[in-house]
Amino acid sequence: MSAGSRIYQVAVPTPLYRAFDYLAYVLLEPGARVRVPFGRREMIGVVLGEVAQSELPASRLKAITQPLDACAVLPPPILSLLRWAADYYHHPIGEVIHTALPVRLRQGRVPVVSRVKMWALTSEGRAVDPQMLKRAPAQRHVLESLATTAEGLDVEQLAQVSQRSAAALKALHAKGWVNSYQRDPRPVMNRDLQPAPELNPDQKVSVTAIVAKLDGFHPFLLHGVTGSGKTEVYLNVIEQVLAQGKQALVLVPEISLTPQLVGRFERRFRVPIAVLHSRLNEQERLSAWLRGSEGAPIVLGTRSAVFTPLKNPGVIVVDEEHDASYKQQDGFRYSARDVAVMRAAREKIAIILGSATPSLESLKNARQGAYLLIELPERTGSAVMPQVRLLDMRRLKPSEGLSLPLREALAARLERGEQSILFLNRRGFSPVWMCFDCGWAASCKRCDARLTLHQTISPGAKLDAHSAPARGAPWMARIKKQKLFCHHCGAEQEVARRCPSCQGENLHPLGEGTERVEGALQKFFPRARIERIDRDSTNRKGALEEKLRRVHDGEADILVGTQMLSKGHDFPNVTLVGILNADQGLYGTDFRSSERLFQLIMQVSGRAGRADKPGEVLIQTWHPDHPLFGALQRHDFHGFAEFALNERRETSYPPYSHLALLRAESPTPDAALKFLHEARTLALHLSPGKDVQVLAPTPAPMERRAGRYRAQLLVQSNQRASLHEFLGHWVAQLAEAKFAKKTRWSLDVDPVDMY
Ligand code: ADP
Ligand code: ZN
Ligand code: ZN
Repeated sequence: MSAGSRIYQVAVPTPLYRAFDYLAYVLLEPGARVRVPFGRREMIGVVLGEVAQSELPASRLKAITQPLDACAVLPPPILSLLRWAADYYHHPIGEVIHTALPVRLRQGRVPVVSRVKMWALTSEGRAVDPQMLKRAPAQRHVLESLATTAEGLDVEQLAQVSQRSAAALKALHAKGWVNSYQRDPRPVMNRDLQPAPELNPDQKVSVTAIVAKLDGFHPFLLHGVTGSGKTEVYLNVIEQVLAQGKQALVLVPEISLTPQLVGRFERRFRVPIAVLHSRLNEQERLSAWLRGSEGAPIVLGTRSAVFTPLKNPGVIVVDEEHDASYKQQDGFRYSARDVAVMRAAREKIAIILGSATPSLESLKNARQGAYLLIELPERTGSAVMPQVRLLDMRRLKPSEGLSLPLREALAARLERGEQSILFLNRRGFSPVWMCFDCGWAASCKRCDARLTLHQTISPGAKLDAHSAPARGAPWMARIKKQKLFCHHCGAEQEVARRCPSCQGENLHPLGEGTERVEGALQKFFPRARIERIDRDSTNRKGALEEKLRRVHDGEADILVGTQMLSKGHDFPNVTLVGILNADQGLYGTDFRSSERLFQLIMQVSGRAGRADKPGEVLIQTWHPDHPLFGALQRHDFHGFAEFALNERRETSYPPYSHLALLRAESPTPDAALKFLHEARTLALHLSPGKDVQVLAPTPAPMERRAGRYRAQLLVQSNQRASLHEFLGHWVAQLAEAKFAKKTRWSLDVDPVDMY
């Protein structure tokens, strides 16, 4: 080592559980990116810090090829949060840091905020009377919004003005009334500010309680029934935070981050808002991220936004904190909710976890006093909770999945011009394509799973003699094509017309998916306007927005869909919610099945009767005596929680224990299990202590997926500290063990899905 050179620890994105030492002559800040030689390649790493000495002799240390940042892209609080996360999730620090950085920064690009394409009125456009566009409402809305601002609006902002803004812009541009230009970051939307509603007493108490404790780490659990005004509480707290010159970080599940939600923030605060979601391109994402670090007053984003640097953090909000999408399911498997709590603790700020159905983990924290529990037990204004009725399917014979009382309830809504939602957590036409002679069912060649029958219906198509799953149905003539799909690996297969097992031709679909229910509804209610909302019907860009607009504008009578319907949407004219396959999940293999089911039904039911018309929820079930349904009928979250917590206590599952799941997969059936057996032997050699149980390896509930065999091993402890101490030693040894080199494995700390 020559005089004047320094040694830096650098995190490099590799699966190795350590950082690497490099030499440099310049002074580098921790959190700055550097280009370094790694093996035969060059990689982009992040400086963790300077060290006085390396374990390696100086002659073997390589030099940093190129420093990329004069100032750290990861400021000290985020860097230290990431080091904590690497420790806690027992994941390689290089990969953790890599995950937290926007892709552009991972690639070594310069951290600059990009210019934004803006649309503004031309002078001809300013002279136009919007009334001229009476027949083109989208164009009129766009024109009117642009007329309120001199600098114009960006595409995202215009998307909030009209679902058809893209087409409208094109048309207006063709007329020479609008023009685009590039400008620096997203401006403040100059819309009419909407005055905040007068808070009700419960909301006032909540806001006061939170605002009194903004000056330190205070975690709040805001439990408010659907439509109780939780968002309004967040907005009021954020107003105070902004008044103190500080920033708010708001996390929401992917599915709830809609233009409507962003609009609600923009109509309340005339301040820059940095929005981070998965539909952004990489440059936009980088810009939003940098604007957070430059001090944008509000940063609103999904899971990975939890790592956005903030210049002056004031509060963190995690909306729908129970939502499973906060957990990353591959690579660095962190929980954004839990990281957010840790971040608030380190930044010494308040955090609000909000939900109508809090997770049992958070609820237990609240009951033990670690979180402050705040309740909003009632809906705002005159809205009341919907009435919940159970339909006992042991006695009611359904036709195409719909019982008579449910059909009658739908008919009554149609009569009154009200809207209904049918919820069914299964897309496709039917989950099973089966031989009724011998019981054969079509299954995936690469997974241990049945194939789902999908069919496209086209109004004009000719009847094909072989494509009639429901013989005699009047809509049969419109079936266009049928196909079998695997929902686990995406494989496609043609529909077998002859049974491969008995050669018979008595093949039929068994059970209902959303497509089949949609067809049945068309049959029962030929004049009803039906919208199906699921992944298949909304994969085209803008399709979901268009469907939601039709629902809002009263152009739809019945919505049938999957959990895409459950969140965030406010449909004032919906007075009936029907839950079709409620029992799925009652006796699921995952210990969280019933908690999930309760949350889901509660959320979907929350769509009914949100305005002044009372709502009704009908649940079709073969287990009407299950305590979960009793609690749902009484809107008794705490009753359910009591029942579920007792069950968890008796079975020593979270929140009464802490879990880590070691997963392995291999192309042959035995290798994954064999690896786990060896990993277990290694674990037992480490004598984990009597409060840590290392259970026997088992095949995953769905063992074969996409051609790979999966197995898992559960480690359980009621002491978090002992668990993590053990995991630290174990993972370090696994990372070095010879037998572990051939198998793909990963550790999932606090697993959310036990598949
Ligand atoms: P949540 O987030 O709990 O579902 P929201 O904050 O979205 O509830 O409130 C539900 C509806 O009630 C929204 O339309 C909101 O504008 C309205 N609202 C909320 N608080 C009040 C209030 N104090 N007075 C009148 N309307 C309110
Ligand atoms: Zn057969
Ligand atoms: Zn498959």
